[in-house]
Amino acid sequence: PAAEAKRLLDEVVLSEAPPGRPHVVSARGVVKQFGDHVVLNGVDLNVRHGEVVCVIGPSGSGKTTLLRCLNNLEPVTSGVIEVNGVELGTRTDRSGARTVITSERRRVRDRARARVGMVFQQFNLFENLTVGKNLAAAPIRTQKRDPEEVRRVAGRLLSAVGLAGYGNAYPHQLSGGQQQRVAICRALAAQPSVLLFDEPTSALDPEKVGEVLQIMQELGELGMTMIVSTHEMSFARRCATRVVFMDGGNIVESGTPQQILENPREPRTRQFLRTVL
Ligand code: ADP
Repeated sequence: PAAEAKRLLDEVVLSEAPPGRPHVVSARGVVKQFGDHVVLNGVDLNVRHGEVVCVIGPSGSGKTTLLRCLNNLEPVTSGVIEVNGVELGTRTDRSGARTVITSERRRVRDRARARVGMVFQQFNLFENLTVGKNLAAAPIRTQKRDPEEVRRVAGRLLSAVGLAGYGNAYPHQLSGGQQQRVAICRALAAQPSVLLFDEPTSALDPEKVGEVLQIMQELGELGMTMIVSTHEMSFARRCATRVVFMDGGNIVESGTPQQILENPREPRTRQFLRTVL
């Protein structure tokens, strides 16, 4: 099964870092405001191919907003986000007018945006579509890939997460853990360069948390590039190549799991860890 999962992942994701591009994701000076409320205060984050970055921090520190900006679900107020070297956002000039871009440039940007997979806290599956169609919709409609090939890969993805035979089920017929496994498959079916997970186990019954974390761990071990906002400190310790601590819209410090979780430099990090460990 491990060899099959590896083969599958090699097929669905970029298994090699693109030459000459050190970072899959590069966020530089990202500011996000809602009205006067500054939620991200100049965030810099560079993520290399194959890294598993766990983002930790108190509620309201900006973790979800950062992921939503990285996925272009939220436009940034200022700063730059690049995926595979392509800038995701639409720049505005000083007057606030959007810069006109060519249709070719727009296609390149849309392709880069499609390479960012997202797994949400509340699964966010399409309730009116079967599991199979949840996986196949974007690859067929948006990415214009061969429907036969997409369906074949979708079936193999479902098997790989223990959901063989669930292709015709509807989301409401599945447990939360199963729905989240489908959501991971849906993200993978779009051949992402990077997967973003926004507190993927927070909405699950405690006994379902392990099955989702297990799959995320396997993806990380297979070389998937991932950014995970989580309160699961044991997952961060076990699986992260890097832990980033956020507070008040800033990255306060980042380092290996040992550095951040066992021996944090910043008093604010220590204080937070005392409340969760
Ligand atoms: P976290 O994921 O760390 O809990 P969030 O990114 O969800 O933090 O929220 C950071 C701050 O941004 C919070 O104060 C929240 O109220 C605010 N915020 C998030 N989304 C919006 C929005 N759409 N409109 C206004 N404020 C928002």
